[in-house]
Amino acid sequence: MQEPNAISLDLQAIHRWLTVTDEQELADLWQLADTCSQQGVGDEVHLRGLVEISNRCSRNCLYCGIRADNHQIQCYLMSPEEVYDCAWKARKAGFGTLVFQAGEDQSIEAHWMADIIRKVKIDTGLAITLSLGEREEKDYRLWREAGADRYLLRFETGNKQLFDAIHPPLPGHQSNRLAILKLLREIGYEVGSGILVGIPGQSFDSLAADIDRFRTLDLDMIGVGPYIPHPDTPLARCSDQFILPAGEQVPNTVEMGYRVLALARLVCPRANIPSTTALATLDGPLGRELGLQRGANIVMPNLTPQKYRRMYEIYPAKAASTEEAEQSIATALQQIRALGRSVGSGRGDSPNLKKNR
Ligand code: SAM
Repeated sequence: MQEPNAISLDLQAIHRWLTVTDEQELADLWQLADTCSQQGVGDEVHLRGLVEISNRCSRNCLYCGIRADNHQIQCYLMSPEEVYDCAWKARKAGFGTLVFQAGEDQSIEAHWMADIIRKVKIDTGLAITLSLGEREEKDYRLWREAGADRYLLRFETGNKQLFDAIHPPLPGHQSNRLAILKLLREIGYEVGSGILVGIPGQSFDSLAADIDRFRTLDLDMIGVGPYIPHPDTPLARCSDQFILPAGEQVPNTVEMGYRVLALARLVCPRANIPSTTALATLDGPLGRELGLQRGANIVMPNLTPQKYRRMYEIYPAKAASTEEAEQSIATALQQIRALGRSVGSGRGDSPNLKKNR
């Protein structure tokens, strides 16, 4: 892998890329991001098996379909046996990593989760990424000791006023996701974060600052995707209260999603960046492929048992929400090969982590 060319983008340059309208300039951005990706993380696309272990959530994020007050959805928590079954599917398909994601389910008992992590790690040897929201420090430490390798926690938006409004704190508990990311790194996790693109109330200035923050946080993994309104959420019903005047509000379009993805690659050449489900939801199969051509190097086929898929509806018409795991794996492999890219082997640790620590 080549040493990536340093592309020095200041806030003004990031802001400019977010707002250029010239088609040729946009084509240049996609090309720059693709070249930077080849140099920073190489040509291989790594596969992560996504397991949505629970849709229960104690939080009431204004934008999220699995928020505590959405009683339209039936709640589930996968059994350890169901999780092991998914882990073996990932192993047999040749994946290097499993991602366990859930709503912020405080009823997920820390030792129960640690036992699952330990067993999956011992039996399959897969790297384990957790995305279980905000927890106490002792839980993060316990899970790391049990064998978890990576933790994903999006800061969603760096605009504190907007974050507090759309992500109300639990009683007596202030959210400080940037501080948690620092703690996760100290504990020894490979650290990932990211943002929602086009959330009502998000300005271009604030979005540019968030992209610049990816660099200062020195992220190992970055997940970004457009905000997709869910009709059973307050934000979908009262977005007028948040939306900024024309020209200031970032649109939640798939194209803006690609711009942010490409810029994330330029500021963090060695981070692992997935082509997210939100892109595939808005742009069909093309979404995943364009993501891979505009800076992404990771694909996360969904291995959650089909009976739970529809219940993990963070936004409507989520891509692949009716597929069996085998179908999700086959589609991902086909798309990667159609692009002439090769599938990565091994754990696919972040080159950023390998270089720095
Ligand atoms: N509970 C964990 C947490 O808070 O990090 C992980 C699960 S949470 C559902 C995963 C991500 O889904 C969030 O970080 C958020 O960015 C994204 N998400 C939630 N609602 C969304 C929506 N309406 N549109 C797009 N992305 C959404």
